[in-house]
Amino acid sequence: MTARQPTARTVGFKPGERNVFFHILTACNLSCRHCYINPSQHGTKTLSAATVIDWLRLFARPEEQSNLILLGGEPTLHPDLPAIIRAAKSMRFAVTVDTNGYLFHDFLDRITPKELDYLSFSLDGPDSAVNDPIRGENVFAVCTENLRKAVRKGLQTSVIYTVSSLNIDHLHRMPRLLKSLGVKRFFIQVIGLRGKPAADKKEGEIVWQVDPDHWLRVVPPVAAEAAGLGLHVTYPKVFLEPDEKFECAANVAENYFVFPNGRVYRCPLCEDYPIHAYLIENNRLVRHEGINEDRFFPLTIPEGCVMNKLLQPDNIDYRADGTPRHRISCCLLKQEIIPEAANNNNE
Ligand code: SF4
Ligand code: SF4
Repeated sequence: MTARQPTARTVGFKPGERNVFFHILTACNLSCRHCYINPSQHGTKTLSAATVIDWLRLFARPEEQSNLILLGGEPTLHPDLPAIIRAAKSMRFAVTVDTNGYLFHDFLDRITPKELDYLSFSLDGPDSAVNDPIRGENVFAVCTENLRKAVRKGLQTSVIYTVSSLNIDHLHRMPRLLKSLGVKRFFIQVIGLRGKPAADKKEGEIVWQVDPDHWLRVVPPVAAEAAGLGLHVTYPKVFLEPDEKFECAANVAENYFVFPNGRVYRCPLCEDYPIHAYLIENNRLVRHEGINEDRFFPLTIPEGCVMNKLLQPDNIDYRADGTPRHRISCCLLKQEIIPEAANNNNE
């Protein structure tokens, strides 16, 4: 096999880009150690299919490219997920389902490759020894078996790997695994970076975040290797180059993070706080008045992302003169490596 030449580029926010991340429920069969679902802020409801479809209409713009990512909790726990996907396709959304791999309610038998653009599996390790202590016993085996079935059925598949201190040193084994499974896209996520090495950790405490140097040493080369094997790879930019312009996605693109309690956020960093920009009430999208996330997006600070500075200040490192060593990019800004062949095909 000849390795294809990858082309790296930063994926900025294209004007008019629209992504709707729709949490149709918060229930899940797993209890991953890093789960970000927060029922007190996100609700515990499973939305009915009729409500999901009504809410989707609020975001549908058939004349524009709009991506819909259906999430949970575990979205395949929703018995009507195939009907929701079909309704979303009729509104011309490009639809991705993010699953933990359990694929409940015979999901694969009830959906065709034409109806679903991507089925995205979460794996946090290249084998059960790394993955299962994070995601749960036997999860690696179930997830990879169902991934194989999805590929055999002709579905386009992707894998999301959430990098933390527990699995960063196993990331390099993922490209070959994903290639052998027939996965098309590889999303590397970050659980959070910290500005300084974890010297201040208390005994017995797990510091999940990784140091910037560790991230930069491991992630870009693994991403390049995966792209060399023909995978389309995406990973967060995190640090801006000195000459790169800072942009807040909320100011230049449309991203909506929708939760079953009707909260709609524009920035994923804000999801644990009642500062959502919008609310769905009686099937109408209304502004959430008062102090909300919208107030922060126009602010310009030397550290880059203002919500990062407020909520995750640990990942900013300062020089002796008080200036930040790096500017932190918007968490929605990605580095993308597209294999040459896919590039030529305008994938
Ligand atoms: S699969 Fe997702 S929603 Fe379920 S526990 Fe894990 S991280 Fe949370
Ligand atoms: S992560 Fe920061 S830069 Fe990105 S949308 Fe949120 S506030 Fe804006």
